[in-house]
Amino acid sequence: MKNDLIAAIATAPGQAGIAVVRISGDNALDVLQKIFSHSGDYETHKLYYGTIKNEGNIIDYAMVAFMKAPHTYTGDDTIEVFCHGGYAVSRSVLSTVLEKGCRMAKAGEFTKRAFLNGRLDLSQAEAVSELIAANAQRAADVALNALSGRIKKQIDNMREKLLDFLAKIEVCIDYPEDDVEQQTAKMLLPEIQIMINDLETLLQTAHRGRIYKEGLTVAIAGRPNVGKSSLLNAIMGESRAIVTTTPGTTRDTLEAHVDINGLEVMLIDTAGIRKSDETIEKMGIERAENVIARADIVLLVIDNNTGITQEDIKVFQKLADKPYIVVINKMDIGSPIQQKSLDVQLGAGETIYVSALNHTNIVALENMIFDFVGENKLSNTQAVLSNVRHIEAVKNANMSLDEALTTLNNAMPIDLAVTDIKNAWHSLGEVTGDTVDEDIVERIFSKFCVGK
Ligand code: GDP
Repeated sequence: MKNDLIAAIATAPGQAGIAVVRISGDNALDVLQKIFSHSGDYETHKLYYGTIKNEGNIIDYAMVAFMKAPHTYTGDDTIEVFCHGGYAVSRSVLSTVLEKGCRMAKAGEFTKRAFLNGRLDLSQAEAVSELIAANAQRAADVALNALSGRIKKQIDNMREKLLDFLAKIEVCIDYPEDDVEQQTAKMLLPEIQIMINDLETLLQTAHRGRIYKEGLTVAIAGRPNVGKSSLLNAIMGESRAIVTTTPGTTRDTLEAHVDINGLEVMLIDTAGIRKSDETIEKMGIERAENVIARADIVLLVIDNNTGITQEDIKVFQKLADKPYIVVINKMDIGSPIQQKSLDVQLGAGETIYVSALNHTNIVALENMIFDFVGENKLSNTQAVLSNVRHIEAVKNANMSLDEALTTLNNAMPIDLAVTDIKNAWHSLGEVTGDTVDEDIVERIFSKFCVGK
């Protein structure tokens, strides 16, 4: 039943200008002919205007497109009905096509077909759902990078080379003279080293890729009354809010998602960190510490008017090894804190003076937060990893090749390297989906939305 007829509403529920009902599978055109007023032939990839009918009753005036396999999203014959948006109309178009022989598509089933029909590899298919999930431009950029097939291309090239290595070793095994083996090992060593370097370069993109995809978590920490909440509000006022403030996952935190230069940033306003014997206070402190642990970067807020206090130093000590920016708030009152005392008491972190009250230097602070992620444009040619599954697979491939390198370096029998090279080939195939189990594929697509 690989190509049976499936249908779903591909647009989000709710009122809108149009809704799209998508149908895919063998003989999809039969379904269209049963419900649509156009009586002649259908040219592929052309729009037709007419009425959608069910047993003579008009359901809607709509545009439809018939797309003939294999040049379609799924690789099967596909129809898209562009009807009026809104719950009632799109539901009746859907129920009409279900009556005419389609079944309801499962979550992600259109994209799964695209994958099974070889229209997309698994890294591209996953990128489709990541592109839909993207809240900010940077997340869309990394998804588009994968969707363009850059990861697939690089991985396919490497797997091709690995097969070539295996073929060379095979020759040695067939002709087991010592010198052939030694020569082959000598020839393979630099090639494997180059591939390890390439994998490492690819892995280096993962840090930025993950932050682009998932957003940057920024904890706002400091003792009470330094202006943490005011700072959160000021940043929200200077940037586009993705989600307005919500109570944090923990009792004493407040979270806000903002878009800073196209990067999604989750700001967490922590409860004041201070020593206390009261249980509730203590719980608050522990939670604030947890938030700091979760954050990619911490804004350590200091009150310019009071200067650095013992309590500030205690908060600073909670930061451990976290990257941080010292934000000296209330620059509108008091005289600036001496740079020397900042360096001595709060380490050599970056420093900025702001006034949350007057919105002074808030944009500059945002740029500092953004710069933390590194260069802001993705290269047009480099594949960027952002998906945990891909990152793990590439790491495993790298480890296997390291082992192969050790074998060859230590003049061990060359066939011992075969397993490692095969493992690397297998791990890389997990990224593109060539070597993944059916249940993993199922799991990946089950997280998609219906209609995609
Ligand atoms: P939190 O306890 O750290 O969250 O601090 P709040 O944001 O509640 O601020 C504590 C007090 O400092 C409030 O009265 C704010 O109005 C005041 N405040 C915050 N930021 C500034 C600032 O930049 N300048 C001045 N003068 N007052 C500020």
